Amino acid sequence: MLNIILFGPPGAGKGTQAIKIAEKFNLIHISTGDLLRAEVKAGTDLGNAAKNLMDKGILVSDEIVTGMIDSKIGHNLSAKGFIFDGFPRTLNQAEALDALLAKYNLSITSTLSLEVDEEELYKRISLRGKLSGRVDDQDRHTFLKRMQVYRTETAPLKKYYSDKGILNAVNGIGEIEDIFVALCDEITPKM
Ligand code: AMP
Repeated sequence: MLNIILFGPPGAGKGTQAIKIAEKFNLIHISTGDLLRAEVKAGTDLGNAAKNLMDKGILVSDEIVTGMIDSKIGHNLSAKGFIFDGFPRTLNQAEALDALLAKYNLSITSTLSLEVDEEELYKRISLRGKLSGRVDDQDRHTFLKRMQVYRTETAPLKKYYSDKGILNAVNGIGEIEDIFVALCDEITPKM
């Protein structure tokens, strides 16, 4: 199996690129943000509990997202692989993912880190907020909170994956197609 983590701050283009990579390499795309938004939309207990945190740019609990990932992997064991988008976001989640994959004799093939500076991220998030109506994209204060959460909780995972020798940084600024090609160039040799 080809198991890829697409890593990066909010607005780096993870969702856009994950969809394209999933299509090209025939992988199951797992976005914890999308899964949580679907729960919110469906008005489930989980969604109602997560909504307030999401609107404020705060992470939902590791147990909730890890449970969602466990179920997705468990239901797709015959897949060619997975692309994880927006997960893991904490060290706890990264360790839980390793344990989960190990349970099925699987492991992470590569972690692709999309590198984008903060000024560009804010521009993209503001535009996405206008187009999608996402509450957490529409307010500068929430953006700054998400960046702070990213720096303190998520960015340390770069060291976790680089220590394992599976972190690859890719420039996330430029045309979507050019970035896609650069990501594919990292993936193809690992197949
Ligand atoms: P995203 O669509 O990835 O930007 O995620 C939107 C929001 O969903 C985040 O700000 C968090 O509140 C929540 N979320 C998404 N993925 C995770 C995760 N792996 N761990 C905790 N919270 C998450």
